[in-house]
Formats: sequence, structure tokens, C-alpha cells
Amino acid sequence: MAAKNLSKYLSETLGMIKTSLSECRFFPINYICKMQQELPPTPGMLWSLFSLKCPRCRRGKMFVHPNPYKKFSLSYLLKMYDDCPVCKQRFELETGFWYGTGYVSYGLTVMLSIFTCILWWLIIGFSLDDNRLLYWVIFNGALAIILQPWLMRFSRVLYLYFFVKYNPRYDKEPTVKFT
Ligand SMILES: [Zn+2]
Repeated sequence: MAAKNLSKYLSETLGMIKTSLSECRFFPINYICKMQQELPPTPGMLWSLFSLKCPRCRRGKMFVHPNPYKKFSLSYLLKMYDDCPVCKQRFELETGFWYGTGYVSYGLTVMLSIFTCILWWLIIGFSLDDNRLLYWVIFNGALAIILQPWLMRFSRVLYLYFFVKYNPRYDKEPTVKFT
């Protein structure tokens, strides 16, 4: 009889603990729950930048089609959501907003060339007596062309990151707008 009462008591206590855990009632569980509700884990800026996510919530996708190499078409490649699927931030802040990305993509291509030039110089080297310089030009040109679809997307994302800052309270505060 005593054993039966004990097991009943134990199962009731366990049940109570379970409920209080799931409802976040007691210290320190309530604190942990509250922290999670108020401060969701922050996705890193570099991670969201390189995975082409919205600058404001760092969670929503900006481009409709995940693979930029699937179809050779600019409208397919650059098809974006009008607003962020997560935080409703508008991406094209004003008409013609994306024209500025031409400069960003140009700058990125120049940076890429400097980077491959340094790597080539360190690993293979340059000389005027053979064709190594020409090979680098061909290699760099090919790489720039291959990376172009991704670079075009990346420069749009990077450009928007200049204007829209991360907001951890993205679900409560108004989105960024140009007046
Ligand atoms: Zn967003």
C-alpha cells in the first residue's frame, strides 16, 4: 500500500514539474523562457550576408529562386520578394533603388581580381618571359564570369545592408522606409 502511494506521489510530482516546465512558471525556468521570447538567438551578420538573407531580421530569404545557376535569365536570377517573408521589410526602398548595385558589383569584381592576383603571384608567380601573366588574365576572367550570377545577387544584398540595419525587435517595430 505504501509503495503504491509513493509511486502515485512521485508520478504526481513529476507531472507537476513537467507542467511548470512547459508553462515556464517557476524560477529559473521562467527567466530562461522570457529571455528566449525577448531575445531570440541572433543570426550573425556575415552568415546572413553570405546566405543572402534580409538585413533587418537576418532570417527572411531575399531571392525567390535558391539556385542562381539554374537558368540563364536575368529576370530569373534577380527575382526577389517584394517584402521580406519574415519581417515584411520592403527590399526595393524606392524606384530604381538597385541601380547603385552596379558600382558594388564592379567593386567586388575588382577586389576579386586583386585577391586572385596576389594568390597567383604567391603560388605561381609572374614573369615577362613566359605566358603566366596571360594565364592569370584568362583564369581571372573565367572566374569573374562564373561567379557573376552570385556576385550580382550578393551586391544587391550588400547594398541593402548599407541602408537597413539589423533590428532584433523586427516583429514589433515598423520597417525601414525612404521618405
Ligand atoms: Zn526580414
